[in-house]
Amino acid sequence: HFRTTMKGQVIKSTGSWYIVRDEQTHQFFKARLRGKFKLNNLKVTNPIAVGDFVEYTLEDELEKNYVITKILDRHNYVIRKATKLSAQAQIIASNIDQAYLIATYKSPQTSAGFIDRFLVTTESFRIPVTIFFNKIDLLTKKERERLNDRMAIYEELGYKCVPISIEETEDLESIKEDLLGKTTLLSGHSGVGKSSFINKLIPETDLATKAISKYNDKGQHTTTFAEMHLLPISGKIIDTPGIKEIGLVDLENHEIGHYFVEIRNRIGQCKFHNCLHVNEPKCAVREAVELGDIASSRYNTYLSLLDL
Ligand code: GDP
Ligand code: ZN
Repeated sequence: HFRTTMKGQVIKSTGSWYIVRDEQTHQFFKARLRGKFKLNNLKVTNPIAVGDFVEYTLEDELEKNYVITKILDRHNYVIRKATKLSAQAQIIASNIDQAYLIATYKSPQTSAGFIDRFLVTTESFRIPVTIFFNKIDLLTKKERERLNDRMAIYEELGYKCVPISIEETEDLESIKEDLLGKTTLLSGHSGVGKSSFINKLIPETDLATKAISKYNDKGQHTTTFAEMHLLPISGKIIDTPGIKEIGLVDLENHEIGHYFVEIRNRIGQCKFHNCLHVNEPKCAVREAVELGDIASSRYNTYLSLLDL
């Protein structure tokens, strides 16, 4: 009696069981985890993330129980802290090529702090980002101008910004092209239009969720951490419903500036080599803020992340 090891990718996680898409047959299997896994030195509540490539095997022929036996090396991953006080982290997604942040100027408003913290996270994981500002159909001319000013801050830092009305745009052709062959993490507050975005890209009948809904045993309490959707031609989107904010492993004060492009670019220009840019004399960062070369909103987010 032989047990074959198969390979696949985790496309959905509930924390206790997973949906694996087989690498060869592209069929979906429900699998559990065997053994204890540790992520570097982090204590994680769920060691497996959506996006993980895994080895799995049929453990029980009769019951059709599949178990994941090995997680293959991750190219990268993002986590969130389980709670503020807990040291436990939750790994959300892995093997990501790029991130899309959906933000809104209003209804609901996405704060500058939220965008900046997201960018710190993606900078620390070296994931390229595009920021979509959705619902521009709701904006007055004045609000649209203020949005342009805000976008200019991020564009100048090298982040691609796209004003959009997902609801009113017929086709998302250029976006579809950008998604081809890549794994894209989709993030943003609840209510910004993430589901609308996915629905525009994938005909409802094609949603992987539909195909695998038979795995949702009745009455079973399932909290979905993240879910991968397969795009019609090629490409994958990792949706993070219910995840407010992807988080950081605790950063030391001296590290935080590395993840703000405009602060990183001024390394070595302050009088003190270990300058935290708070109230040190001859600080190049504070001078740039005063001159308007660094946006004060960005600097304020930086200060709020310091543990002083
Ligand atoms: P999610 O929570 O991020 O998944 O957001 P949804 O996709 O559910 O969208 C939240 C609400 O915003 C829904 O009522 C959508 O119809 C609406 N919405 C989405 N895109 C747009 C848009 O471009 N303009 C306007 N006015 N409303 C939108
Ligand atoms: Zn400084």
